[in-house]
Amino acid sequence: MTSPTVRFAPSPTGKLHVGNVRTALINWLFAKGQGGRFILRVDDTDTERSTKENEDQIKADLKWLGLDWDDTFNQSDKFAQYDAAADKLRDMGLLYAAYETADELDRKRKIALSRGRPPVYDRAALNLTDEDKAKLEAEGRKPHWRFKLSGDRVEWNDLVRGQQSIDTSSVSDPVLIREDGSYLYTLPSVVDDIDAKITHVVRGEDHVTNSGAQIEIFKALGGTAPDMAHTPLLVDAEGGAFSKRLGSLSMDTLEARGILPMAILSLLAKLGTSDNIDVRETHEALAADFDFSKIGRAPAKFDEKDLLALNATLLHSMPFAAVEEQLKAISPEAANETFWLAVRENCQTVHDAKPFADIAYGRIEPVVDDEDADFISQAGDLLPDGEITAETWKTWTSSLKEQTGRKGRGLFMPLRKALTGQEHGPDMGVLLPLIGREAVVRRLANA
Ligand code: GLU
Repeated sequence: MTSPTVRFAPSPTGKLHVGNVRTALINWLFAKGQGGRFILRVDDTDTERSTKENEDQIKADLKWLGLDWDDTFNQSDKFAQYDAAADKLRDMGLLYAAYETADELDRKRKIALSRGRPPVYDRAALNLTDEDKAKLEAEGRKPHWRFKLSGDRVEWNDLVRGQQSIDTSSVSDPVLIREDGSYLYTLPSVVDDIDAKITHVVRGEDHVTNSGAQIEIFKALGGTAPDMAHTPLLVDAEGGAFSKRLGSLSMDTLEARGILPMAILSLLAKLGTSDNIDVRETHEALAADFDFSKIGRAPAKFDEKDLLALNATLLHSMPFAAVEEQLKAISPEAANETFWLAVRENCQTVHDAKPFADIAYGRIEPVVDDEDADFISQAGDLLPDGEITAETWKTWTSSLKEQTGRKGRGLFMPLRKALTGQEHGPDMGVLLPLIGREAVVRRLANA
């Protein structure tokens, strides 16, 4: 097989979220795993809803994720090519003017349904004479333009769904050009896929029906249709469509929450596949695992808990240099290697280091239960002299054990609560030198 060329084609009408990042990633992994090309196509034919700001954010997000593209272009720069393709289809008698309003079409659909027929456009416009059209246009009506489907079956072997067959007589002739002259995505997408020599169209299964029409347009324009792969959609943990919540799952929000690119990519690459959900540290490792045959037909369930778990796994072995900048932003004193190595095992995101930074370098509220008050004051007396080192905790708690007879939880928990204000957290032996003698003495005395 020659190496593939794929494209990811977001519309800059909003931000990237986990749903469309998954489509980008599958394209990227497939192409890069075989030394192919990944093209970023900006689908901005809808000039009203597309913004430059969204486009820039999409590009920044893809870079942040490390999903670099080999080439990029905007559909809004290519209207002349789409016009030429539309003319060609018109000349072939495959693009026809229709004048029905949205209301009229709606009425036709309802009538068809009430008669037990599928709500397919009846092609009434094909019977209009030139005089009819002139009359309609004199009334101020403008045409929209429909592609005339063959009425045959369109078949392809989908890389995810297997053999597909769409009966184009059961589908309405798709509108390619709206009455204001603007293009729907169907025709430009085909023109660009031919132009960019796309070998594989990989996208969500909401596009399966479009593929039937688009394969016919590919043929009409003299191209061969690329191979196709339609992936099941992403659903939330309960199995529902989660479009409402996507805002909280946009890349900039996830980044601000301290979620790492490789956690997002690892989850999105594995979701809905026969592989276990597991972290991979590099894009190359994910690409090596990738195969269309591993993608199942059921919707892929996206659960934020999985994302946090993968993020935690990555953080637990993350070297200090990789988090230094983020730690600085959380607490400048905490941006040191000793601190990071002490707390990383207890963090799901780097933000979880904040309360530990307060324990080590800031202020906390010591917690002492009444029955532990005497024990804590004894602990203050028995604190070994001199600077607190890595050995101090052990020496100190051994002598406390001897003197008080306390052991296990009864020995350690009151000390942890008095010194950190928390019941859980990093190893006290490692924390103690970070807290330092002065704060240890103060917390025990205050308590
Ligand atoms: N802009 C289209 C979308 O986001 C592209 C679909 C395709 O990949 O062909 O749905």
